[in-house]
Amino acid sequence: MQTHLAPEFKDTPEGREAEAILRKCVHCGFCTATCPTYQVLGDELDGPRGRIYLIKQVLEGAEPTRKTQQHLDRCLTCRNCETTCPSGVEYGHLLDIGRSIVEDKVQRPMGERLKRWTLKTGLTSPLFAPAMKLGQMVRTYLPENLKAKVPKAQDSGLWPTTEHSRKVLMLAGCVQPAMLPNINFATARVLDAVGVQTVVAQEAGCCGALKFHLNDAQAALDQMRRNIDAWWPWVEPADGAVGVECIVMNASGCGVMVKDYGHLLKDDPLYADRAERISALTQDLSEYLITLLPELTGLLQKIQVQAEAHTQGHNSAPPQRVAYHPPCTLQHGQQVRGAVEQLLKAFGADVHLSRTESHLCCGSAGTYSVLQPVMALTLRDRKLEQLSSLQPEVMVSANIGCITHLQSGTKLPVKHWVELVDERLRAHH
Ligand code: SF4
Ligand code: SF4
Repeated sequence: MQTHLAPEFKDTPEGREAEAILRKCVHCGFCTATCPTYQVLGDELDGPRGRIYLIKQVLEGAEPTRKTQQHLDRCLTCRNCETTCPSGVEYGHLLDIGRSIVEDKVQRPMGERLKRWTLKTGLTSPLFAPAMKLGQMVRTYLPENLKAKVPKAQDSGLWPTTEHSRKVLMLAGCVQPAMLPNINFATARVLDAVGVQTVVAQEAGCCGALKFHLNDAQAALDQMRRNIDAWWPWVEPADGAVGVECIVMNASGCGVMVKDYGHLLKDDPLYADRAERISALTQDLSEYLITLLPELTGLLQKIQVQAEAHTQGHNSAPPQRVAYHPPCTLQHGQQVRGAVEQLLKAFGADVHLSRTESHLCCGSAGTYSVLQPVMALTLRDRKLEQLSSLQPEVMVSANIGCITHLQSGTKLPVKHWVELVDERLRAHH
């Protein structure tokens, strides 16, 4: 696509990056068909090709309006369009640039600004955990829409205490420890069972995604730099000891962000190299755990023998029927597919994905479910209908946002897949 950037963007790094992305787009529209917002709204400007056009016009000097901003706001950043695009258009990076320019030029109404400010400060604040605790205590009395955002308090069991020479760093996440603490505990227990110790750097915090997607790039970049500083002693220990094997992410929304640190900090002379190394070291939990399949297989054989001895040869319970929703940040953002299914199958689960819609977003998309509730609920209900038709006993996903969002619309349990693996291991210990 030919572009003629306006003078104000011509010689900026963002302008150059955007131009390179736009040049790749051949306007074929393949991406439009798989875009969830286009599928629901049927408006070209609520699909990727239309949004690319809007951003192009702004970069060429057109004055953006509230309408431009709203079309960009309605994008879920699911990046389904990137998976579909045959020309390799990096839509996600283009959207980041477009949103940030439009944000500077179009003022949002007061109520919206307040909502966005509350989200970006509230969710990453130290007060979030006590507020969540309080919410859980009075959960029964909360109105339904608020109750949906406050999961029931969990008993997450014990954190393993065995020291192993093999170590991984884990990002605890900003909301996860307070909302669904069992995910981190289960991760540490499963890794411990295969001889890997999970380390959490206390000084690390939010990955930066919340602020970044609410157009506060500078604050987000500061969070990224803080995390790099917190992790670095584990990556390159000062005493020459062996560093961690990887930085493991059990929330794919955080994983996709940390894998992008190298790109986002490429122009920072102090952090560029380290950011790139951190991104290269980052893996989704399923990506990492699948490399330990030989160790897992050994464990599974032991479990099987124990189970057979327990049932004395009688038929044991049938495999648990599981419906899996692969998060967009995993399948499109990180292009990681198949590992979760493989791991769950190895642990004896009967895993199913929606045959026709597993590529579609569930509508959670970080803070999207709060900022665009109508679209978020439409997509949630559509996703739940698909998953329920698989007649599962439990639904699983790989990202806290998707898990809580789906859970708010169904009575069936919705869990992180690693919790099922952990349950299986614990049942035989
Ligand atoms: S990121 Fe998702 S919602 Fe946004 S344009 Fe692409 S497919 Fe559509
Ligand atoms: S599929 Fe790719 S090349 Fe085609 S319109 Fe969409 S972004 Fe452009």
